[in-house]
Amino acid sequence: MTSNLFLPQSKGSTVDVSIIHGGRTTVPTLYVFQNKIPGHDVLDIPCYSFLIENKKQGKKVLFDLGIMKAWKEKQPPQILGQIEFAKAVMDIDKDVTEQLSESKVALESIDSIIWSHHHIDHTGDPSLFPASTALVVGPGFKSNKTTFPGYPENPEALVANDAFLGRELIELDFSTDLKIGGFPAVDYFGDGGFYILQAQGHTHDHISALARTSDDKFVFLGGDVAHHPGEYRPTAHLPLPESVQPSPFAINTLTSSCPGALFEECHPAKGTSKDYRTTPFYELNPAMNVSLPDAIESVNKMEAFDASPNVFVVIAHDTSLLDVLPFFPKTINNWDSANYKSIGTWRFLKDFGGAIKS
Ligand SMILES: [Zn+2]
Ligand SMILES: [Zn+2]
Repeated sequence: MTSNLFLPQSKGSTVDVSIIHGGRTTVPTLYVFQNKIPGHDVLDIPCYSFLIENKKQGKKVLFDLGIMKAWKEKQPPQILGQIEFAKAVMDIDKDVTEQLSESKVALESIDSIIWSHHHIDHTGDPSLFPASTALVVGPGFKSNKTTFPGYPENPEALVANDAFLGRELIELDFSTDLKIGGFPAVDYFGDGGFYILQAQGHTHDHISALARTSDDKFVFLGGDVAHHPGEYRPTAHLPLPESVQPSPFAINTLTSSCPGALFEECHPAKGTSKDYRTTPFYELNPAMNVSLPDAIESVNKMEAFDASPNVFVVIAHDTSLLDVLPFFPKTINNWDSANYKSIGTWRFLKDFGGAIKS
């Protein structure tokens, strides 16, 4: 079954997409998913920041920043309490600013930082950027007490005030007719190279993005629409193959394979009327989303992009792509010819190794 996804026509512009590794953290899977798969107890996740470069216009933006290195000193007490409660590992080697500088990308050349949403594993430390770098946020950010004004001016805030101080804070307006794959959309540079999508459900201010890497190819930056590919794979649009190739358990062996039926046993559809080959492994948890119905709708919309051979979906925390993709300063613009999508699609199944062997 194929989906009816209409991708926007090219206006002659593309963007370069690089992924910066913005730190690593852990979350117990019981916080993230509604159901449990034995042996998969903790998500040990990278936090991706995306450098988007529009060469024609000479502009660079960052979509998310990962985690700030100085989180202990700068995060509001509520956030520190949450980290302690979750016993989360916070492993940040270098801020995104350091990584850019080391690769000779001047911080002054970054026009904007776009936050997919206000969570600490996405917001990084905008105060390290010059005042000329604007901060762009999703709808609802400025009118919600948990996000604006920032801490400590506003004790209820979950974000630090110094992220916005002295810089332009732009809240996106999606009240136009443009929709892509059901998501309200903004043509960010006005040339069809980079779209921001309003993807509600996870938080009040959540947005995703769609970057055009060639005339008809795109990278979908999912943010936290999902936290693990098992939340949006497999589906009727993208069924679990009879033979999974390469095998998720093999390292760099592209010709390896394993039977898809191996995963029937640990799939929650087992014993129900649902088909394990067309039902995602994980259901979203209400505790992880301000609106579960909206979050489910966003995942459903993202699944259509995921099933399209013209779109490569990369969520902010996709661990399974860590050993598949090249990272900054390299770009992933050649994702299609390099087969990153076909190699990476089923790699997340390795997380269920414990369940199928138990
Ligand atoms: Zn989040
Ligand atoms: Zn996140």
